[in-house]
Amino acid sequence: MCSKRRKSSRSCGAKKIEVSILVDELVKITGGKYVYAGENADPAYGKDQSAYPAFPYDVLIKPGTLEEVSAIARVCTMCRVPLTVRGGGTGVTGGALPVRGGVVLSIERLNHIIDIDPDNRYAVVEAGVITSVFCDALEARGMYFPVAPGSMGSSMIGGNLAANAGSPRSCKYGSIENQVLNLEVVLAGGEVIQTGSNVHKNAAGFNLTRLLVGSQGMLGIITKAVLKIGPLPVWRKTFLAGYCNLQAACNACLQIAGSGLRACAVELITEGALRLAAPFASPGYPLLAPPVCAHLLIELEGYDFEDSQEQTEKLAGLLACTSLEDIVVGESVQERSVLWSLREKIGVAMTSHGLNYRDIDICVPPARLYAFLTATEEIGNTYGETLITFGHAMDGNMHTMLLLRKEMSALSDRGKVLTALYSTAIRLGGTITGEHGIGLLQQEFQYLQFPSGHLELLQRIKHAFDPHCILNPGKL
Ligand SMILES: Cc1cc2nc3c(=O)[nH]c(=O)nc-3n(C[C@H](O)[C@H](O)[C@H](O)COP(=O)(O)OP(=O)(O)OC[C@H]3O[C@@H](n4cnc5c(N)ncnc54)[C@H](O)[C@@H]3O)c2cc1C
Repeated sequence: MCSKRRKSSRSCGAKKIEVSILVDELVKITGGKYVYAGENADPAYGKDQSAYPAFPYDVLIKPGTLEEVSAIARVCTMCRVPLTVRGGGTGVTGGALPVRGGVVLSIERLNHIIDIDPDNRYAVVEAGVITSVFCDALEARGMYFPVAPGSMGSSMIGGNLAANAGSPRSCKYGSIENQVLNLEVVLAGGEVIQTGSNVHKNAAGFNLTRLLVGSQGMLGIITKAVLKIGPLPVWRKTFLAGYCNLQAACNACLQIAGSGLRACAVELITEGALRLAAPFASPGYPLLAPPVCAHLLIELEGYDFEDSQEQTEKLAGLLACTSLEDIVVGESVQERSVLWSLREKIGVAMTSHGLNYRDIDICVPPARLYAFLTATEEIGNTYGETLITFGHAMDGNMHTMLLLRKEMSALSDRGKVLTALYSTAIRLGGTITGEHGIGLLQQEFQYLQFPSGHLELLQRIKHAFDPHCILNPGKL
């Protein structure tokens, strides 16, 4: 209920509006039950999983229908009030932070799975569906959506789309951009558009679907998505290989890709991460004794049990030539979860060791991964910083963690070492962010990525969608 109202006014472009008047307008749309202001506005909605403190905002609203979302956008544009869309709030770069205050629109009530259509190989879902809820619903029908970010228990489909989320399975399926056929989007003025059609091929017009994916709430509000689905694999196996040098591990990734084996995960864990997280891995986690100093974690999946044997032998043969010791294969759910345990515990290990960290998620062309890793080591030495690296090796998308003492904020000034890391990624033909997005956190490093004029072009596109710049202002 919006009982307590601040008697403040908000400067919004050329206009100014009393927050109480804004609240009245919004209450007309959803009813008072879903509008929160003043003391009723939960500060948690002004924060995400980045290190930034909560940003104050004026009104939180939780619409339940497309029409309500459209009406809210219309009011915000009319009043020139900033409107920041929020999914699960799991973003790590501050994308969902209402840095200019105004209205926070939580998409959480648009949480229906509307259709699962195996024959047409798509599902229609509202943007507020939790990622894992969607995946579980598909699994119950023998179907599969392969985008599985580590945050999938809390992130939402709309947030995944707006951030162009990836996951370990991206090496086979790509980021979520490769899994979307069509989007329903509310534009800043309240107009509703479809970005494409519910078809697997579409050559009509500009690819607005692709433009909206990764747009971080700056071009429109995604309300519904048509996502590609496929049959659930019938088998899945995890392989762990130990290496005593990084070059051999990186070469193995290239060989796996070149062999035609379509691995659905190829994760590299380098020495710092391995040693830090080893105490947190499940009992029986293997291949930890020196001289092993890096692990490759590979997952295969398939639809035919006969293929399983053939692919296992092919991968095992390839790894036997490159790795240090016998590889370990997990087949049952329990065996596989032991093999994934160290990789999944790296975050917990860092915080349990009393460390804070900043996650740098550069992506380089896969054949340049080794060059990036050696450069990272040199950069760490040069600046006297501890960097540990792990991640999606087959994609060239690594998480380099800049370790900080607990009392130091992940926002603390580390400009030189960050610039060195990002510049190295760019020099190697890569990008400053493979899956987390620029958000607020990486904004100051955009200039390394974009040639002159590029940001202006982005601004012009933004202007075409949102002429009064009400959608997630302060992020471009
Ligand atoms: C433990 C952990 C593990 C993670 N693992 C991964 C991983 O494996 N892969 C990965 O890619 N990321 C990962 N992330 C980062 C984060 O979870 C992803 O970026 C995720 O896609 C964000 O989804 P969300 O629903 O939480 O979005 P939010 O954080 O709420 O928002 C993210 C951005 O999208 C915009 N947005 C949200 N919903 C909409 C909408 N409906 N329409 C338009 N814009 C919208 C917001 O304004 C914001 O700019 C991880 C984060 C954590 C904390």
